[in-house]
Amino acid sequence: MVTHIGGCHCGRVRFEVIAPARLEALECNCSMCSKAGYLHLIVPADRFKLLTGAEVLTTYSFNTHTAKHLFCSVCGVKSFYVPRSHPDGFSVNVRCLDPGTIEEIKIQQFNGREWEAQFPKGRGQYT
Ligand SMILES: [Zn+2]
Repeated sequence: MVTHIGGCHCGRVRFEVIAPARLEALECNCSMCSKAGYLHLIVPADRFKLLTGAEVLTTYSFNTHTAKHLFCSVCGVKSFYVPRSHPDGFSVNVRCLDPGTIEEIKIQQFNGREWEAQFPKGRGQYT
């Protein structure tokens, strides 16, 4: 496990996340993620820490409103958010992590268009 640092484009939002150096990321095909090209790294809340930028984050939600899509209101980048599958954790956008601590990124496809079929219990587990 290493501490990765990341954030939005303008630099106001900065966070750290504890995760393996060899990351497994999920590429989701849902209406939101496919438009944004978001790559998910989902972690429990105690492995994520927002360092700066709470005051510039703005929230967008839709459908069940469980997921809280958090965008930087200055540059528009969603560098992390609260996912519907893990409402007690965070999904970090692997594309927003600084280089230097990542050894490898393995990308798995995730069928978020059929979310209920992927998560019949209404949520996902941490791996
Ligand atoms: Zn920004």
